[in-house]
Amino acid sequence: MDEETLNKAKIKEYCEKYPFLRWYGDPLYMGYSEDGEPADDYTWEDEMPEGWRKAFCPQIWDELKAILEKADYVDKFRFAQIKEKWGELRMYHCGAPEQIYDEVEELLNDYSKRSVDVCIDCGEPSTRMMLGWIKYVCDDCAKTKELGWHIPKSDIDAFYEDRDAYIETHKAELDANCRHYGD
Ligand SMILES: [Zn+2]
Repeated sequence: MDEETLNKAKIKEYCEKYPFLRWYGDPLYMGYSEDGEPADDYTWEDEMPEGWRKAFCPQIWDELKAILEKADYVDKFRFAQIKEKWGELRMYHCGAPEQIYDEVEELLNDYSKRSVDVCIDCGEPSTRMMLGWIKYVCDDCAKTKELGWHIPKSDIDAFYEDRDAYIETHKAELDANCRHYGD
């Protein structure tokens, strides 16, 4: 089997185990429909940035499935959106039966909270916060993959207390640690 065929076979098997990961397109787009076959080369997991995928999958899906099973809802559960917002993993869904609703919410919120402690790029523990587009990364990724200023997570409170003062005080350090276009 070539790599593409192998990959498609893996995706098929994965979605048989976790049917809520089947991708029929973005449900927020007009014309969304589940009439046809789901994608054979893409799943909801692919909506998640790589570092979080490495750190959380498939454990998160096993935990979600265990909750859904209690209400016979494994085949019916649908995500509405999986994305990054303010540096946090956010997962929205299309509803769940009342008896498991709170448990589903708790699980997804728990992973949101944990996501800021995991490098969004590589899945290692995060140590720095990128300024501008807020995201949490490890030392290596801050140096090699990300562009712009970043601060140690231990400075986050001081930064938010008075951003201008923080930047003023740390300007030299911010510039020295920063990777620019072309570096
Ligand atoms: Zn990293």
